[in-house]
Amino acid sequence: MRRRQFLTMAGAVVLTGCTHSAPATTTAATSSAPSALVATSGAPPSTSAPPTPGTPGEVIARSTVPVLCFHQLREFRADDSAYARTMITPPPVFTAQLQALRDGGYTPVTAAALVDHLQYGTPLPERPVLLTFDDGSATHHSVALPALTDFGFPATFFPMTVVLDKPDWLSSDQLHDLDRAGMTIGAHTWDHQRVDRLTGDQWAIQLDQPRTQLAEILGHPVDLLAYPFGVWSQEALAHVTAAGYRAAFQLSDPQDTAQPLLTIRRIMPPPTWDAPTLLSHMDSDF
Ligand SMILES: [Zn+2]
Repeated sequence: MRRRQFLTMAGAVVLTGCTHSAPATTTAATSSAPSALVATSGAPPSTSAPPTPGTPGEVIARSTVPVLCFHQLREFRADDSAYARTMITPPPVFTAQLQALRDGGYTPVTAAALVDHLQYGTPLPERPVLLTFDDGSATHHSVALPALTDFGFPATFFPMTVVLDKPDWLSSDQLHDLDRAGMTIGAHTWDHQRVDRLTGDQWAIQLDQPRTQLAEILGHPVDLLAYPFGVWSQEALAHVTAAGYRAAFQLSDPQDTAQPLLTIRRIMPPPTWDAPTLLSHMDSDF
């Protein structure tokens, strides 16, 4: 697809189809391990020996840490569809949801800390949570960054690279700002294609090149991926590994039993979730 063609539809794609299914429910959860397991599972790897990766079963058992997925952070516009309004978070709602996490005793952690925990059993703080932001909206810099900085919360951002430096989307300089502020940047493909439909040289365009481009912008490696629409496939997992990603994030499907690090689950909190509802889902969906 030519770049101009894509850009004319990018907003519609992002707001109408970033997920192929509803946010995870309790029936979709793959683990009901008590939250106490998070604080007690595993031991810190020895400083004198390389850490031992957990088995897939161990990784799945540790996958009880809630991961939240946000998109645009802005007030609704008249032409926003009902579905778009489930994915757009007005700034005051975003601040209220961050406050709910603080009041609920949650400690946002970096993606690396979460993946280390899943892979090696390294400890996390009590009531950990990972905050993620998909697609690359400029509001991730104008709204999310100052709010997260106020709260002292780390987060992870997954911009699609086709939109970088375009109006209303993150610029390379803004990516630098996020990176320097302690935020993590991961990839979200080039132009938001479903990875279960990629063939031929599209794998390189959608998986390899965005990772390379982001690393060039940031000056350090990028090793995390979020699947557009949350969709993945068995075939895609091999390509994700070959492209050099350490971990990858989906939405509500059960984790892959052989490669759980490449199918980490997330939920998308709609703006209608008040504090008790948000905290309840974080307990019950993971
Ligand atoms: Zn997306």
